Amino acid sequence: MFARTIATVSLLGFLATAGPTRAEGPPRRVEDVIVVTVDGFRHQEFFGGADETLMDAKAGGVPDIAGLKRQYWRETAEARRETLLPFVWGTIAKQGQVFGDRTRNAPAKLTNGKKFSYPGYNEMFCGFGDDRIISNAKVSNPNRSVLEFLNERPSLKGRVAAYCTWDVFPFIFRSAQNGLHVHAGWVPIRDEPLSERQRLANLLVERLPRYWPDNTFDAVTMEAAREYVLKHKPRVLFIGLGETDEWAHGRRYDLYLRAAHESDRFLDELWHMLQQMPEYAGKTALLLTTDHGRGGTQADWTSHGPGVEGAENLWIAVIGPDTPALGVRSGVETTQSQVAATIAGLLGEDFAAASPRSAPALPDVCQAAKK
Ligand SMILES: [Zn+2]
Repeated sequence: MFARTIATVSLLGFLATAGPTRAEGPPRRVEDVIVVTVDGFRHQEFFGGADETLMDAKAGGVPDIAGLKRQYWRETAEARRETLLPFVWGTIAKQGQVFGDRTRNAPAKLTNGKKFSYPGYNEMFCGFGDDRIISNAKVSNPNRSVLEFLNERPSLKGRVAAYCTWDVFPFIFRSAQNGLHVHAGWVPIRDEPLSERQRLANLLVERLPRYWPDNTFDAVTMEAAREYVLKHKPRVLFIGLGETDEWAHGRRYDLYLRAAHESDRFLDELWHMLQQMPEYAGKTALLLTTDHGRGGTQADWTSHGPGVEGAENLWIAVIGPDTPALGVRSGVETTQSQVAATIAGLLGEDFAAASPRSAPALPDVCQAAKK
């Protein structure tokens, strides 16, 4: 009897110190968050797979139409998207959540009105569209991003990093001022002693054609990011992939689809690698989204910007141990500005309180559903 009283008292004491953050639901399991963006990848392909009207020589610039159709054309939208993005539709959509399906009255949109990259990444990581950001110029962001905010938390200091194909990201995250680890564009990895794969990645950076001077090939950034995870085990990692946007601007629908498919394959490999690592297994969330959409016609699918109708439409997908498996969400409208607070919220941090202009986190994503 006496022993039980002591046990009860200690339990009450424990509950009291656990405090209000734990009172509303089960304990938080997420300790690490990976954010991946696929630049300018349209909701049309995300939800519907390959678009038949673009698998041609003129509108899509496709050299081998029959080969492309064999690879990605299927009779139904569901089969097409599962073929194009097997990890997204086979794993994230089943075990996590997907926002942005306009056929389910659940549009996801950017609010910045610009419909190009810097304003989009600012909205995504700073939590609001900012009228001061009017170009992709390499100008330091006036706003604090959620990555900077998280890197200021004592428990996360130095454990937040970004690997990006596009060389404007150091300015978007203003890493020169805040010391955030941002690796971007055609620069070699400096992380001595280099691993064998890091040395190979650096060799490729040196020898590959600089096809886009400001944007490296996705495979280079993927390898650099993967090695960073293995060597340094970051708690928060952003990986920005850019080939989808570049091939679309170049009117190469075959290479645009291929880049999306390779991005999905990379996510699959990364996710399974993380589940083999004790630092990440069962306590990592993954958020996947894009900075903007593109036009919806044969003429303007290559393009995006303030005058391009439909380029405001996006998609957002989340998977993790605290995110209920609600699948493709219906009847919920979301915005790009909600991503920042979601990234923080997955880690139990309140970005909206620290950055008052930030939109709230996505609904029912950051904490397992209340019983
Ligand atoms: Zn673009």
